[in-house]
Amino acid sequence: MLHPVYFGSPRQARLEAKETLPAKLDLILDRLHLRDRVKGETVAIKMHTGNNIGYSTVHPVFVRKVVQAIKAGGGKPFIADVNWDTAGAEERGYSTETLGCPVYPAAGPDEKYFYTHARPFKNIQNWKIAGLIEDATFLVNLSHVKGHPSCSFGAAFKNLALGCMAGETRSAMHDAMHYDRYWFGDERTDAATCQRIAAVCPQAAIVEDKHTPGEMHLHFEQCNQCGRCLQVAPPGSLKIDPVNFHTFQEACAISVSLVLSTFAPDKVAHISLATHMTPVCDCFGFTGMPILPDAGIFGSDDIVAIDQAVLDVTGRTPLIEENIPTSMEVHTREGHPLRWLHGPHKDPYCVTEYGEKLGLGSRQYELIDVLPVEQIERAPMGYIPAR
Ligand code: SF4
Repeated sequence: MLHPVYFGSPRQARLEAKETLPAKLDLILDRLHLRDRVKGETVAIKMHTGNNIGYSTVHPVFVRKVVQAIKAGGGKPFIADVNWDTAGAEERGYSTETLGCPVYPAAGPDEKYFYTHARPFKNIQNWKIAGLIEDATFLVNLSHVKGHPSCSFGAAFKNLALGCMAGETRSAMHDAMHYDRYWFGDERTDAATCQRIAAVCPQAAIVEDKHTPGEMHLHFEQCNQCGRCLQVAPPGSLKIDPVNFHTFQEACAISVSLVLSTFAPDKVAHISLATHMTPVCDCFGFTGMPILPDAGIFGSDDIVAIDQAVLDVTGRTPLIEENIPTSMEVHTREGHPLRWLHGPHKDPYCVTEYGEKLGLGSRQYELIDVLPVEQIERAPMGYIPAR
């Protein structure tokens, strides 16, 4: 069976507000029957409120529409995000006044409010789900689509996987990339060899381990798998292996499976806004230029289907290469454009494959345009009358 993903295109036929993305969000909320599903529910709206002076996170106009729909349906909404992003969120336009509901740190102000779930995976034994997320009875996963340094892509999976976990688990998920060995140096690896390996990397992604001289440490976030370091490392001493990179995406899928297991199956809805997509995630605290054309807004009850649809739609166009920071490089043009930028081992589709294997949804979806531009009669431009 094809799982529906409702879609609002950024295209419009007429210069009218009702053809723009916030209006299409209303149509998507109707198709998801959100109002009918939230009566009496405590609704966590998990979103990323950004950091510092970033301005490309989901705009308050969209958030407020989701809040209004939940309130209209008799639900009690609140915004949830990690503590260091909610602190100062009002500086980026996210406040009770603008959104219509409170903004809370999901695991409390000190990240100490969580529930522990045992699920051994590599370096992680226990996963700590943020208390306010697990206490909620309905979850709206409201994500902004963008690039990501660890896995090339952040959207529905990433928003829940990291954002619904307490800080200790978020750190452990990043550390999981180091679980499988990649350095096999021996006594031949002297300081000069380490320096040569580090010096050849234009991303400063590989350095001598500060605790263990003679051992190299890889910063997977910066590494785009160009392979330059392999040319100067002693034979067999270093691996740039997909397993380390894929581990992060597998950890994200496991994290999401644990989060979703705390909600009844029909008590979760996913909405993703694919506009102003930057090379890296919104945690960086600034907004650079978009590297992909705006692709629209998506909604689904299936987290696998929505990320798959977002990837397929955003993958139709190449990168806007003139907007890529000059310190980043494109060294492959195969697969999804975010893979061009972050490297072949950071294939953004991995997370949907892991998610499907865990039974979280289906990669087989039907994309349903809620207002196809082709079906709208064209009309000449009108002017707003002076008041
Ligand atoms: S593969 Fe390239 S980016 Fe990665 S550590 Fe080696 S030189 Fe640096």
